[in-house]
Amino acid sequence: MSKVSLHQVAKFYDNYHAVQDISLDIPDNAFVVLVGPSGCGKSTTLRMIAGLEDISRGEIRIGDRVVNQLPPAERDIAMVFQNYALYPHMTVRQNIAFGLKQRRLPAAEIARRIDNIAKLLNIETLLDRKPRNMSGGQRQRVAMGRAMVRSPAVFLFDEPLSNLDASLRVRMRTEIKRLHQAVPTTTIYVTHDQTEAMTLADIVVVMNGGRIEQYGPPQQLYHSP
Ligand code: ADP
Ligand code: ADP
Repeated sequence: MSKVSLHQVAKFYDNYHAVQDISLDIPDNAFVVLVGPSGCGKSTTLRMIAGLEDISRGEIRIGDRVVNQLPPAERDIAMVFQNYALYPHMTVRQNIAFGLKQRRLPAAEIARRIDNIAKLLNIETLLDRKPRNMSGGQRQRVAMGRAMVRSPAVFLFDEPLSNLDASLRVRMRTEIKRLHQAVPTTTIYVTHDQTEAMTLADIVVVMNGGRIEQYGPPQQLYHSP
């Protein structure tokens, strides 16, 4: 069964074809990485799955539903961005609780989930601080916590580690892999970094010029010159 599927999905900006009729089946709980050079259409593809960008034609399914017309909040997804997108005036706890409060979960349930997530991400000591006083790595952990606490069907990551320095990037890679094993969830992860793609992915999707050039487990991909 596939949790996310794209059927002949395209995105045009005027006459420019940013994404050209791509089809993709993403198995339940797989960690799929979209990789390729800048401008090849990775981010646009992810944003169309998220509902942050309309599709020009084709069909996107999440679970059993065609989501083409659904707003992001109704797609059962959570997205983690490169720039973290945290609310600067709120504490970490308030940032993580925000989406759950909107869904009107009981306070005790929110507190329980935040405790679990904070332990999982090692951010227990940060809960009452504000993002502005934190390092990039800490902020990115909080951003992941905010996504995970909602228990979405699908996680979408857009270059989440690109703003971090090299050694932290390597550590966070390991961390993200561990989290996926601890809480298996269908994950679609965009990066231009091939090493990141190879270490994280169950399935690598290589994009180029708005098309899918290769699809498969990392060890089965051939290397372009
Ligand atoms: P990637 O994430 O692989 O770097 P993008 O998906 O961001 O690539 O962009 C794919 C192509 O679509 C690029 O050539 C980009 O300039 C173009 N593009 C993206 N967003 C827009 C937009 N809003 N208007 C026009 N062109 C866009
Ligand atoms: P990313 O960091 O994900 O590659 P960019 O910085 O390229 O994103 O783009 C930021 C925003 O600008 C996005 O919303 C994207 O759709 C839009 N954008 C990207 N390329 C173009 C373009 N050529 N023309 C108009 N808007 C663009």
